[in-house]
Amino acid sequence: MTGQERSEEKSECVSLSPMREAVPTPSKCERVCVFGTGDLGRSLGLRLLQAGYGVVFGSRRPHSSSFLPHGAQVLGHAAAAQSAHLIFIAVQREHYDFLVPLANQLKGKVLVDLSNNQRKNQYPEANAEYLQSLVTGAEVVKGFNTLSAWSLQNGPSDANRQVYICGESVEAKQAVIAVATKLGLSALDRGFLSVARELEDFPLQLFPQWRLPLRIAIGLSAAFFFYLLIRDIIYAYVTQGKDISFRIMVSLANKVCPIVSLIMLSLCYLPGVLASFLQLYRGTKYRRFPDWLDRWMLCRKQLGLLALGFAFLHVLYTLIIPIRYYVRFKSTERTVSVIRENRTSEFDTMTAWRSDSYLSLGILGFGLYVLLGITSLPSVSNALSWREFSFVQSKLGHLTLLLCTAHTYLYGWNRFLSSSTYKWYTPPGYMLCLVLPSVVLLLKLLLITPCVDRTITRIRQGWERGADQRNPKDSHPLIP
Ligand code: NAP
Repeated sequence: MTGQERSEEKSECVSLSPMREAVPTPSKCERVCVFGTGDLGRSLGLRLLQAGYGVVFGSRRPHSSSFLPHGAQVLGHAAAAQSAHLIFIAVQREHYDFLVPLANQLKGKVLVDLSNNQRKNQYPEANAEYLQSLVTGAEVVKGFNTLSAWSLQNGPSDANRQVYICGESVEAKQAVIAVATKLGLSALDRGFLSVARELEDFPLQLFPQWRLPLRIAIGLSAAFFFYLLIRDIIYAYVTQGKDISFRIMVSLANKVCPIVSLIMLSLCYLPGVLASFLQLYRGTKYRRFPDWLDRWMLCRKQLGLLALGFAFLHVLYTLIIPIRYYVRFKSTERTVSVIRENRTSEFDTMTAWRSDSYLSLGILGFGLYVLLGITSLPSVSNALSWREFSFVQSKLGHLTLLLCTAHTYLYGWNRFLSSSTYKWYTPPGYMLCLVLPSVVLLLKLLLITPCVDRTITRIRQGWERGADQRNPKDSHPLIP
């Protein structure tokens, strides 16, 4: 390379536009083009420059573009397209027709479609497919659309590193993956361009895995709130004329939270138990679970975390009981009346045992609950082996359910048998919430009995019922 060529190459990487951020200009740089000098184009351009690429912006108004990163070059679209093999299209899809007259300059180039839509199914075809239909001579790759301008500007340490790409040409995708890797991102090839619509829908999703658990939590909370409102507050008003509506704020909330928490914890373990029984019934693990069971199993983590949230609220509500005005008033009144009437009350050891056991089981249950929540965090679960993770989530998880269920049974104690408990012939909330965990624990108990456990373990190791008859050699391993 002559000195003149080198100085030309250097000068290609020198800025022609007003600059802000200071970026080291590499002496020898691979050039990449970015169409569009908007929010995403500028942020991407800055990251590309920081990674050592030479950046050429393609703009409608190359002479009046402002706030571009230091070191970038700005040209008209046609000239910019000719200066690089890889072109990022950081322009809204509605304006893609400006690319049609550039067909000759874009021939053989790799076009990265970064666009997103405002809503799902906004257009009949994916933006990337539309782009490919406009510029048939280029290779379109969908990608980087799940990153925001903000996250690109903040660097890989702060932002989500995962990007998804798809496209028809393997070479084009490799070129895009190479750039992503150099930017410190991790690119995942999702296949052909037909997947583009799915990638374009990603940024439109709002907590997709939390939707069902949240609906369950809200539904259960509302249902039990109104049930307890009728049983506790309205019942007292109708039958005794007493207004105890102030109890809504703490007493009622402190009943709803543990009820919802226990039911949701049971819902977290019920699908696993159902799946085991289904495998036992089918005698094989090589058949798909029904879709509803699959979806249910996939949201167990969210169910568990929401259950933990409700348990946490229950703990907080319980801790404030001694400072409540109503509780302090009642306790003082009781003490004064005992003194006034010169009464003595016997210490009841049984009640003390019951109360301490009830509290202790609650504390132990909550401690394990927190442990389950912590081990479900990706940073912690990634540090555990599969055996450790399943020990905590399955064995300790069922133990948590057992402790919390026992805590609730002790809360009910002998009130299960008292007719005054059943106001308007309805059972209290805590009794209703015991149904599901009791069923889950009973089914689990059945599953861990030695004969059932042996069969389920064999099924999970690949054994199939009826396979021995179908293939008699399998049952006689010594017969060749
Ligand atoms: P923007 O700020 O509105 O910038 C779009 C750029 O497109 C403009 O600055 C303009 O650049 C160019 N443009 C506008 N009208 C044009 C036309 N008629 N013909 C040719 N070029 C035109 O948009 P953005 O936020 O950067 O987003 C760009 C694309 O990236 C969109 O498809 C968006 O869905 C996608 N995206 C954005 C983000 C984000 O965080 N912003 C994240 C992911 C994906 P010139 O004036 O230089 O021509």
